[in-house]
Amino acid sequence: MSLNDHWMQRDLAVLWHPCTQMKDHEQLPLVPIKRGEGVWLEDFDGKRYLDAVSSWWVNVFGHANPRINQRIKDQVDQLEHVILAGFSHAPVVELSERLVRMTPAGLDRVFYADNGSSCIEVALKMSFHYWLNVGQPAKKRFITLSNSYHGETVAAMSVGDVSLFTDTYKALLLDTLKVPSPDCFYRPEGMGWEEHSRAMFAHMEQCLAEHHREVAAVIVEPLIQGAGGMRMYHPIYLKLLREACDRYGVHLIHDEIAVGFGRTGTMFACEQAGIRPDFLCLSKALTGGYLPLAACLTTDTIYQAFYDDYSTLRAFLHSHSYTGNPLACAAALATLDIFEQDDVIEANKQLSARMASATAHLADHPHVAEVRQTGMALAVEMVQDKASKTAYPWQERRGLKVYQHALQRGALLRPLGSVVYFLPPYVITPEQIDFLAEVASEGIDIATRESLSVAVPSGARVDFRDPG
Ligand SMILES: *Cc1c(COP(=O)(O)O)cnc(C)c1O
Repeated sequence: MSLNDHWMQRDLAVLWHPCTQMKDHEQLPLVPIKRGEGVWLEDFDGKRYLDAVSSWWVNVFGHANPRINQRIKDQVDQLEHVILAGFSHAPVVELSERLVRMTPAGLDRVFYADNGSSCIEVALKMSFHYWLNVGQPAKKRFITLSNSYHGETVAAMSVGDVSLFTDTYKALLLDTLKVPSPDCFYRPEGMGWEEHSRAMFAHMEQCLAEHHREVAAVIVEPLIQGAGGMRMYHPIYLKLLREACDRYGVHLIHDEIAVGFGRTGTMFACEQAGIRPDFLCLSKALTGGYLPLAACLTTDTIYQAFYDDYSTLRAFLHSHSYTGNPLACAAALATLDIFEQDDVIEANKQLSARMASATAHLADHPHVAEVRQTGMALAVEMVQDKASKTAYPWQERRGLKVYQHALQRGALLRPLGSVVYFLPPYVITPEQIDFLAEVASEGIDIATRESLSVAVPSGARVDFRDPG
């Protein structure tokens, strides 16, 4: 038995994997990873895979990065963890100072959670609680965009729109208001991104006009709807949204958990709209992909509405056991050092240009509806019919074929439904980008060649995080 098989069998005897129909593993081998280095992951039999999805969008400077490793090693000998209520430590103070300094002016307070979903819960609770504290208890609903994803916990699911969740767990969810997304994939022929995103704002304007008295906040994934298929829109929408939220007295929550830290081409996506949200949620790349940590930044106005004598019971009494973990903060500080010292945002411009040129030919593929890109995220959408942009039935799992082909060729590409995307660590080389483009092209050819006949039950849809 190979070492891979050995670990796979031990794993499958005891583990229940995330976002996985475990029965798939009767056909689909699990890939046990022994070590990582830079963009590469290496399995127990010595085969290497180029991590094109940054291990679920978290890794920015490669696996086993010497600079981040060293910072964590130094920190672990000093202090591994301490309660953050009543106590503090240097890494969390330094990290908070830096986050306040590097985000748009006015985001002056940092509250920590230990993963992205919890960070969304913090923002939702804080917004609702703010309105309660200032005597507006009617403001308790949230406006969200169609096709959005904000995490897996119940309130985070409620403001998301991935149909598996909204269908299966409907009975558990908050009552939210949903507005059509400014996603540019379905824009009318000949229309540009800006014009389309601007036109789509009419739906948001109408919803705010009608419901603002009962709305606490609007929550969006700025510029890229990630788990919803790497769908993209123009920054003008965020600018219009900021103005409208001010006009109607509604908070704006930016979920930059996936897009923060350079993914869209700027450090934060909100910079491209020149705006400051009331809540900025960060996680994923915050620690370079090393340790779970999330930060919810907000304004002094919000903070002051909670600041009072204890007996008024206005405090935000929310906590997570690992809030502000020193090892995670140390990893984050090392990550921010690399951004600064290596002028990463500038250097990424060349890489993102290479991602564009290496995949440009795919736009002519008979089963590719669109090759789209925002900064260091590039997506290729496979469709059954190019002219009408008709999707493949999800049951055909075309993306899974690309995934399997890529594994064979030594790349980790994990499509979202029929959307093949690159979201690589920023330490990828131009040659490695060319290799990914080659593997993706082959995979797309294979996946779209066959006409698959599968039974298509009506109603159900795919979970976008699934490779299928
Ligand atoms: C991944 C993600 C989350 C959830 O973060 P977790 O750490 O997986 O809980 C929330 N919002 C967006 C936009 C994400 O991509």
